[in-house]
Amino acid sequence: MARYTGALCRICRREGEKLFLKGDRCYTEKCAVERRKYPPGHHGQGYRKLSDYGLQLREKQKVRKTYGLVERQFRRYFHDAEKSKGITGEMLLQLLESRLDNVVYRMGFTSNRRKARQLISHGHFRVNGKKVNLPSYIVKGGDLVEVNEASRDIPEIIDSLSRVEHKGIPAWVEVDSANFKGKILHVPSRDEIQLPLQEQLIVELYSK
Ligand code: SF4
Repeated sequence: MARYTGALCRICRREGEKLFLKGDRCYTEKCAVERRKYPPGHHGQGYRKLSDYGLQLREKQKVRKTYGLVERQFRRYFHDAEKSKGITGEMLLQLLESRLDNVVYRMGFTSNRRKARQLISHGHFRVNGKKVNLPSYIVKGGDLVEVNEASRDIPEIIDSLSRVEHKGIPAWVEVDSANFKGKILHVPSRDEIQLPLQEQLIVELYSK
């Protein structure tokens, strides 16, 4: 599956919002969205009025890119959300938040989801005591996520945990950074997923 390997700040500038794709830089004045509040490219500063379809498409791209997924994976999550009981848009966000790479990032073990994906694939994390190397693994309430003992000297993990207070931990997880562990207290409700997203636009897009 072809994954985007270009400049991450370009994605945020395209969407006109901070998507926090890089990590520490996103919290500084060096953030590209703070410095250039217009889309990249030659016509970036021109006025654009988006159609309804355009708005829906941009919202979908924003969510997809925030979680670092390719279109096919994103569609699959949408279909799973549609099949589950509950409001489709909210179920979609819950599923995405429950991915192991997102949880590792939310717990502060890495500075962004991309690094979380890489470290998980290399086998540095355990869930409920078992090694899991699938970034797409879906966690449940009560699950315990921990860094392997042999991996606790990885600079990315140590650096990221040292800044965890500054970035904050969501209320639906609990982190014991001294012991490189975290627990999922419950699957997050929509209110606890603090992303400026209008998931209803994605439902409208895929319902056409
Ligand atoms: Fe996005 Fe972070 Fe780059 Fe800012 S620094 S544009 S939030 S990736």
